[in-house]
Amino acid sequence: MDEKQRTKQIVSALRRAYPDARCSLNHSNPLELLVATILSAQCTDERVNTVTADLFRKYRRAEDYAAAPAEELERDIHSTGFFRNKAKSIRAACAIIAERYSGRVPETMEELLELPGVARKTANVVLGNAYGVASGVVVDTHVARLSQRLGLTGHVQPEKIEKDLSALAPRKDWILFPHLLIAHGRAVCKARAPLCGECLLLKLCPTGQTVLSTED
Ligand code: SF4
Repeated sequence: MDEKQRTKQIVSALRRAYPDARCSLNHSNPLELLVATILSAQCTDERVNTVTADLFRKYRRAEDYAAAPAEELERDIHSTGFFRNKAKSIRAACAIIAERYSGRVPETMEELLELPGVARKTANVVLGNAYGVASGVVVDTHVARLSQRLGLTGHVQPEKIEKDLSALAPRKDWILFPHLLIAHGRAVCKARAPLCGECLLLKLCPTGQTVLSTED
């Protein structure tokens, strides 16, 4: 079986197992998703959702973040960690969005990458999940780990992993694929101890095969 065919089977199996897989950061518009994604660095989505429940009531437009005193925004996002850098990025990105884009989060990779604190992962999250634009494959720690274990990449740098995944998966799956991998990473292919014996991808996974053969 060639690698594209194997990837297709992985996506199909995961799609059946996790029919509700979706972006787990709560948001109701592109600005909220941008802010939530910046906050999610080194923080759980669960914690981010707790913080944004209040944050999104208080700050509704890009101008609101841009005009907020630094200390106040830092206090509001404190529990997500790295709050000084995150507040700085959010205020600076929102100032540009307010001034240059009349308050609307831009819809292209090039424009998003010019915003402070926004790298490819954040841009892909926003484009894919807020605008439905398949610009690339989101690579977070779960996606990186599973891609390596599944033999879909030999790289560790997110940009290179993204390149491998986007070459293997058809563009129509680019937005959903990372959500499926994240769901499987949380439920079965856990960081410390993957549950290979009960994994639906066992036959498609080189790591699983190796783990099982050493247990025989
Ligand atoms: S077989 Fe094991 S390593 Fe492979 S995807 Fe499943 S849990 Fe992860």
